[in-house]
Amino acid sequence: MKTKILVSACLLGHPVRYNGSAKSHDAELLAHWQAEGRVVVFCPELAAGLATPRPPAEIQSGDGEAVIAGRAQVRDREGRDMTQPWLLGAWLTLRSADIHQCRIAFLTEGSPSCGSQTIYDGTFSGRLRTGSGVVTALLRRHGIEVYSQHQTLLVQSRLHEMDKET
Ligand code: SF4
Repeated sequence: MKTKILVSACLLGHPVRYNGSAKSHDAELLAHWQAEGRVVVFCPELAAGLATPRPPAEIQSGDGEAVIAGRAQVRDREGRDMTQPWLLGAWLTLRSADIHQCRIAFLTEGSPSCGSQTIYDGTFSGRLRTGSGVVTALLRRHGIEVYSQHQTLLVQSRLHEMDKET
């Protein structure tokens, strides 16, 4: 059985990022996964009701884990507290992953929602720091493996291993 994989909508070419752009990645590979019936496409920020375009937002004083634990906040560049919509987007993503039985996710690096290895440091200066976004942190808490678009070979390997297990 083909393992389902949750994929960031912007990686699939949907123009849903804060600035109205996409972040298309390896269209051939993603088309192959879609043809196999594996792909569950999702954008947490749109699911939470945010518009495109929207002001950029970053996690202040922490990462996604700290946001879930109530020790950090998400704020947009205008200083508005966006923590609640970010948490809502994360829970809706987890719900979609559960409904479709996704055990693995392929999400956009650097995003305060979808980042899995790095996020912006909260100063809106373009600097990255180690850490995950809010969605990634919640998915990992619930046992879902999360990788970025820079880990394609690892994701393919995990998909094939998971296919054999089911
Ligand atoms: S929340 Fe995730 S899927 Fe949506 S635009 Fe940002 S990085 Fe892409």
